[in-house]
Amino acid sequence: MIHRARVVVGLIAVLVAGAASGEPRVQLPDSARQGGLLMGQAPAGSRVVHDGYELAVGEPGRFVVGLDRDAPRRIKLRIQLPDGGERVRTIDVAQRDYDVQRIDGLPEEQVSPRSEELLARIREEAAQVRQARQRHDGRSDYLSGWQWPVTGRISGIYGSQRILNGKPRQPHYGIDIAVPTGTPVKAPADGVVSLVHDEMFFSGGTLMLDHGQGLSSTFLHLSRIRVEAGQRVTRGDIIAEVGATGRVTGAHLDWRMSWFDRRVDPTQVVGPMPKED
Ligand SMILES: [Zn+2]
Repeated sequence: MIHRARVVVGLIAVLVAGAASGEPRVQLPDSARQGGLLMGQAPAGSRVVHDGYELAVGEPGRFVVGLDRDAPRRIKLRIQLPDGGERVRTIDVAQRDYDVQRIDGLPEEQVSPRSEELLARIREEAAQVRQARQRHDGRSDYLSGWQWPVTGRISGIYGSQRILNGKPRQPHYGIDIAVPTGTPVKAPADGVVSLVHDEMFFSGGTLMLDHGQGLSSTFLHLSRIRVEAGQRVTRGDIIAEVGATGRVTGAHLDWRMSWFDRRVDPTQVVGPMPKED
């Protein structure tokens, strides 16, 4: 009984504080994790600034901030309200430990490409992906909800430190799901196709979806892409087929998510892999 009384008193205090201030509400979670996605809401017409980014604030005042693998312990958001007021919010970011993953037996030219021609190709392909990630569209398609693009055994996780043929390389930013070539890939959320490439050097058949406000998904190693650049897709639509193209040791889907140039962890958005039948 005592416990319940305290809860009621606490609730009244919150309600009174809210009513007394008469200020438009800014909603943000109190905490987050490295690689996570913060979804917030501010009065329509607000400007939200974080770490030099001016965020797109969608129609219902919704906005999103991605946190990268090595995000600091605390981040700050500055919200300028349409009435001229300003709010500064600080959010604690839980720090994570990451695995080390060793992959051996890759062709040496795929781990440390040397030829000028190949290096030029890699640079050009990276520029295309970078450009697609910079799209800054106010749509809030990510509010459609999320589902796994394929279901199956997870064979690689976000953030692992990669050692390829004994050489330390970039961390792995995707989630790998080991499923056979030809398995249909479904759109994990609504979006617009922002890049289609049949054969990139590292990532093979590569497809990107723009979910709005800087949030994008990339699908790698595809055997077939079933949509075209600019096409609008709905969550659950079949967009591609799994393959083993590019730098791989076997067929799998590598699904990555980015918020502009920050890599976020898809599992923090979509939740755990559903059990297979
Ligand atoms: Zn991968």
